[in-house]
Amino acid sequence: MDIAARHGLPVIEDNAHGLFGAYRGQPLGTFGKFATLSFHETKNLSCGEGGALVINDRRFYERAEIIREKGTDRSRFFRGQVDRYTWRDIGSSFLPSDILAALLWAQIEIVDAIQAKRREIYERYAASLQPWAANHGVILPTIPDHCACSYHLFYLLLPNSAAQGAFIRHLQARRINAVFHYQPLHLTPMGRQFDGKIGQCPVTESAAGRLVRLPFYFDLESADQDRVINAVQSFTF
Ligand SMILES: *Cc1c(COP(=O)(O)O)cnc(C)c1O
Repeated sequence: MDIAARHGLPVIEDNAHGLFGAYRGQPLGTFGKFATLSFHETKNLSCGEGGALVINDRRFYERAEIIREKGTDRSRFFRGQVDRYTWRDIGSSFLPSDILAALLWAQIEIVDAIQAKRREIYERYAASLQPWAANHGVILPTIPDHCACSYHLFYLLLPNSAAQGAFIRHLQARRINAVFHYQPLHLTPMGRQFDGKIGQCPVTESAAGRLVRLPFYFDLESADQDRVINAVQSFTF
């Protein structure tokens, strides 16, 4: 934010999975002019696909409403502010359907229960796996005191990428789906078109080769979580 302020740049936060997290008391998604949220199937709140745009500057409300309504002022028409609607700007059909919105709304109504359950799952993984991790040089996530966690994922950072592959196969053999994350974008075919090269982001490259996510979803039952924890602890290297 300091760099952006120095250069007069607007910040757009990718808050796709940061909803309900906070940094020094300030909720994620409220720092930039805009923030994006994802309701993809993998997120804490989900309607399958879709998302939201958070606008933290009133000057942009009206235009955003028009762009998402196919370039029309139909939203103003529905509110009775104009007596017919017409095309005013560029746009597309960015609205979620009522059916998907209903699915999402039902989750928003019980969001405290969802977040409490996710916190419980997170803390259980952290407490149960701590001794095993310490013995095997595996790093668990930490939450700094000045941050509130969104409890979106729980990951392990293995010592090297050979261990990552072997660990994922170990869990798969026990019918547990754990996945690596994330791909360093500068090394993808698209990133390479912009001159991305190995060594430009050494921390990212190292983490991508070592990180594994454990199963983590709202209705993960404790017996299933025990099975995951036991399978993790039976991996030795
Ligand atoms: C999930 C995710 C996205 C993609 O969200 P979509 O709804 O699929 O567009 C982007 N950025 C981050 C950090 C994410 O976690």
